[in-house]
Amino acid sequence: MLRNDLRNIAIIAHVDHGKTTLVDAMLKQSGIFRANEHVEERVMDSNALERERGITILAKNTAVMHKDTKINILDTPGHADFGGEVERVLTMVDGVLLLVDAYEGPMPQTKYVLRKALEQHLKPIVVINKIDRPDQRVEEVIDEVLDLFIELGADDDQLEFPVVLTSARNGIAKLTMEEESDNLEALFKVILENIPAPDVEVDAPLQMLVNTLDYDDYVGRIVVGRVIRGTIHNGETITLMDEEGERKAKIGRLYTYEGLKRAETQEVGAGDIVALIGLADANIGDTIADAESPEKLKGISIDEPTLSMVFSVNNSPFAGREGEYVTSRHLRDRLFKEIKTNVSMRLEETESPDAFIVSGRGELHLSVLIETMRREGYELQVGKPKVIMHHDETGTLQEPMEALTIDVPQEFMGAVMEGLGLRKAELTNMTEMAGYLRMEFVIPARGLIGFRNQFLTDTKGNGVMNHVFAGYADYKGEIPGRTRGSLVAFENGETTSYGIGNAQERGNMFIIPGEQVYEGQIIGENSRDDDMDVNPCKKKHVSNMRASGSDDTIRLIPPKTFSLEQALEHINDDELVEVTPKNIRMRKKILD
Ligand code: GDP
Repeated sequence: MLRNDLRNIAIIAHVDHGKTTLVDAMLKQSGIFRANEHVEERVMDSNALERERGITILAKNTAVMHKDTKINILDTPGHADFGGEVERVLTMVDGVLLLVDAYEGPMPQTKYVLRKALEQHLKPIVVINKIDRPDQRVEEVIDEVLDLFIELGADDDQLEFPVVLTSARNGIAKLTMEEESDNLEALFKVILENIPAPDVEVDAPLQMLVNTLDYDDYVGRIVVGRVIRGTIHNGETITLMDEEGERKAKIGRLYTYEGLKRAETQEVGAGDIVALIGLADANIGDTIADAESPEKLKGISIDEPTLSMVFSVNNSPFAGREGEYVTSRHLRDRLFKEIKTNVSMRLEETESPDAFIVSGRGELHLSVLIETMRREGYELQVGKPKVIMHHDETGTLQEPMEALTIDVPQEFMGAVMEGLGLRKAELTNMTEMAGYLRMEFVIPARGLIGFRNQFLTDTKGNGVMNHVFAGYADYKGEIPGRTRGSLVAFENGETTSYGIGNAQERGNMFIIPGEQVYEGQIIGENSRDDDMDVNPCKKKHVSNMRASGSDDTIRLIPPKTFSLEQALEHINDDELVEVTPKNIRMRKKILD
């Protein structure tokens, strides 16, 4: 049965290109808002942290009505560090909206998600937004999108993408700049005509995949997924199937998406996206199937955590108690709540009630949690990130490996290769794209610690990196001590980093961008001179340092404020990072 009353799409957009404004405008036009409802109650992109880092952390759903058709709009994570989120969103939809700023054009950060969407043969619609900008370059931007699609291997059908021009701010959509328009009708029309309606068997035995988990203090675990076949009913008994086996369970209440809210409903038919409660122990990838004739769907794999960190109560005698939540109870409750929905994160208790081991999918995954907690008013301390090692049956030490994909403009290839070589990465493949290089590596997860920062600096923000878990392999031996070897300085507020080789010789000196500086040593005259030749901004710092220290040992202003990433990258075993709502500080561990 063709469900012409339904469409499922995902939005892919770079931060600030206008996704929230567009969805709000669509909701407004579809009359979902009552007169007194505030548009500020935005579901998409509500997390300030996402904006700052240019990533979207959680996938969230909205639905708009256009005449008799419901359009489910799913947000895509702009980042893929956290274990399969992108795939999980894309398996629920039949097409994607690529939203691009009419001046900025397509941004490299959205490429990962876009490539995944194209690989899954989803039909793209290109929305060029902010056409009211005086500096709009609509024609060029469309060409840039076409180039990008070719580069990402779009098929012929995908290359004939429809283009809609919008001013989300003014609630206007049209197909050409010349056209007159005072609403978003053209956008709705293109969506309805181009995104296939679900073609499903509504009367067959039920099948649904658990796609996303959500959590609510009041109702507990919320299971989200698309009904693949059949119809799911409020309160019915189903078969819950996973890799280990199956068991009967009873569904609690059902919800579908309506505007920015979830609305309770009695039944949901195949093709639609449903949120349900009552299945407290359902997991991502489980099948919810008919009670009588259950058939399992192919599950979804979730990447394993590779990195762990100790989170503990801030026990510093100087702890400013700046946070609202400071006790072990607060910390414990918050972390247990986190793992209910953060599917590739794990939590272990330790002998101390004040300390917990949190494991996740790399540094960014963990630092997003830390930053979020800090903004919520938590005060805590974290230890050095550690890679999770295993022993195989014969007792050989093994470490987690990651398959790393990097897209960079040609000119940055050297810098990237140099950086990764030192981190024991092996190049497995290199492909030339239109103006870009795609490099694939296998790298010990250890080698990725601190790499993202370095990579963004080395490629001046033009590179895109993504990694997925690639199994365990024999321990590759020590990675040269970069922690104390990297040298970072700042120039007009921008980070500039210097050759790793040189920096290592230099021993344990580094300057952290921002107003704060760490103390350390410079070893050897030569490397200093090298650097002075390399970069004039450095010269200033070097001479400042000379002025404030003796020839080889330099003592600078004590650290004040670090960014979390900087602190994590540079922290030693005997140090801790204190995280308070106001500050990130590094300090020595207090030995007891
Ligand atoms: P998001 O990060 O993609 O959700 O972006 P937002 O919807 O929050 O928009 C980012 C900024 O762009 C805001 O300041 C919006 O007001 C602005 N913006 C959104 N749509 C338009 C548009 O059509 N024209 C112009 N000129 N600005 C827009």
